[in-house]
Amino acid sequence: MALSVGFIGVGNMGNPMAGNVLKAGFSMTVFDVNPKAMENLIQAGAKKAASAQEVVDGSEVVLTSLPASPDVEAMYLDRGGLVEHAKPGTILIDLSSVLPSTPRKIEPRARERGVHFLEAPVSGGVTGARAATLAIMVGGDAAALATARPVLRAMGPNIFHVGPAGAGNTVKAINNMMACVNSAAMMEGFVLGVKAGLDPMTIYEVVKASSGGSKAIERIPRALIPRDFEPGFKVALMNKDLETFHTIAKELHVPVTFSALAQHYQQAALAAGLGEQDTSVVFTIIERLAGMQAPR
Ligand code: NAD
Repeated sequence: MALSVGFIGVGNMGNPMAGNVLKAGFSMTVFDVNPKAMENLIQAGAKKAASAQEVVDGSEVVLTSLPASPDVEAMYLDRGGLVEHAKPGTILIDLSSVLPSTPRKIEPRARERGVHFLEAPVSGGVTGARAATLAIMVGGDAAALATARPVLRAMGPNIFHVGPAGAGNTVKAINNMMACVNSAAMMEGFVLGVKAGLDPMTIYEVVKASSGGSKAIERIPRALIPRDFEPGFKVALMNKDLETFHTIAKELHVPVTFSALAQHYQQAALAAGLGEQDTSVVFTIIERLAGMQAPR
C-alpha cells in the first residue's frame, strides 16, 4: 500500500510539491500556519490538520518546507516538536534550504528516538516544483531514502544521495550561490545592453545562443521584460542562502568573492523593502544605479 504522507509548510514551493505527491496517489495530510496556503490542496483531496503534531500522528513519511534554519529547528527540536512527537520508524524529511548545522543537530536527536531524519533541499524553483522536475539533494541514511524515494520521485526525477546529514545543504548553498552570481552578471549585462540601445529580446536571443548563456537568461522574458517580480523565490530567502554559503566558507577558510558581490544586490533589495519579492527584482536596483529604466 502507498505510504501515508504528511506535508508541513505549503508555501511557494511546498504547495506544488505537495500537489504532485497527492497526484501520484499518496494519501496526504497537510498543515500550514497560513490556512489559505492549504486551500487548493484540501480541494484536491488532502486532509487538513490543525497542527504539525496532527500531521505526524497520521503519516509514515513527513515532509517539511519552511523558510529557514530557526523555523526548521523550532519545528523539529522544540518540546513537543516533530522529533519528540513522531512514532519510532517515522521518516521525517526536511526540504527547506538551511544551514548544514541544522540537519546535523536534528539527525542524532531523531536517531536516539528510533525516528529517521533526512535533509533534502531542492532546486528548480516554483516552475520545477509545479512540473515535478526538481533536483533533490539528500543527506542522511541511505536505507531511509530507499523507503521514501517513491515520495520524492513524485517531486522530481533527479534524486542525489550526496552524503551524511549536512552534505545536502552544503551542495544546495553552492548551487544557489552559483545561480545568484549568474543572475547578477546577467542583469548587469542586460541593463548595460538596454542602456546602449539594444532591443531587450535581441540581447536574450543572442546570449542564449552564445557562450554567456545560463539558466539565469530565462529571467529576461519571464520577469525582466514584463517586470513581473511576484515570487517565485523571495529576495529574503536567497539572501539567507548566500549567508549559508558564507558561513560554510568561513568555517572551512575558503576565500570566496563572487558570492559577496551577488549578496551586495540582495542586501540593497532588502534595504529597499523588496525582501518579499522575487530575486529578479534586483534588476530594478541595477537599473536605478545605471540611471535608467528599461522600456516594457
Ligand atoms: P514560503 O515563504 O513561500 O513558504 C513557507 C511556508 O511555510 C509558508 O506557507 C508559511 O506559512 C509556512 N510556515 C512557516 N512556519 C510554519 C510553521 N511553524 N508551521 C507550519 N507552516 C509554517 O517559502 P518557499 O519559497 O516555499 O521556500 C521554502 C523553502 O524552500 C525555503 O527554505 C527556501 O529557501 C527553499 N527553496 C525555495 C525555492 C523557491 O524558488 N521559492 C526554491 C528552492 C528552495
